[in-house]
Amino acid sequence: MEEKVYVIDTSGFIVGVEFTHGKMITVPGVVDEIIDSTSRLRFELMHDAGLRVEPPLGTFRDIIASAAESTGDATVLSETDIDVLAKALELAQGSQVILITDDYAIQNVASKLSIEYRPAGSSGIAKEVVWEMKCTGCGAVVTSGSDCPVCGSSIRRRRVGN
Ligand SMILES: [Zn+2]
Repeated sequence: MEEKVYVIDTSGFIVGVEFTHGKMITVPGVVDEIIDSTSRLRFELMHDAGLRVEPPLGTFRDIIASAAESTGDATVLSETDIDVLAKALELAQGSQVILITDDYAIQNVASKLSIEYRPAGSSGIAKEVVWEMKCTGCGAVVTSGSDCPVCGSSIRRRRVGN
């Protein structure tokens, strides 16, 4: 049986997750984002219990970046989000990985790459969502940016299909 590994996003420390078995891993960027004292304490306790902090390999970051482009999540994923996803994908090569995150964009890309995920607190989305960036003024559909290249109005992100 494959070893079970939990890759934990920032939300896992804010909400507070507890595991009785399995390895726990997070990335350095997540540790930087945990600033409130309660989450810090949770992190320290989990660290004492064996939680490891490791950066992902660059090749997996590249795969995540292109997957995020195809789902329309590239503009909302932070560097840390990409690291968390990349680490999950990297570990999924030899273990059963469960990504713990409440972030819908991370869940969406995880779904695209068949990475199993579980919400730390809120209920997760059931299936992959495709996003579209659309101008609020003229209705032009764009791939990136916050202002419309046609009329200059603001761009809003909305889900299409599914
Ligand atoms: Zn426009």
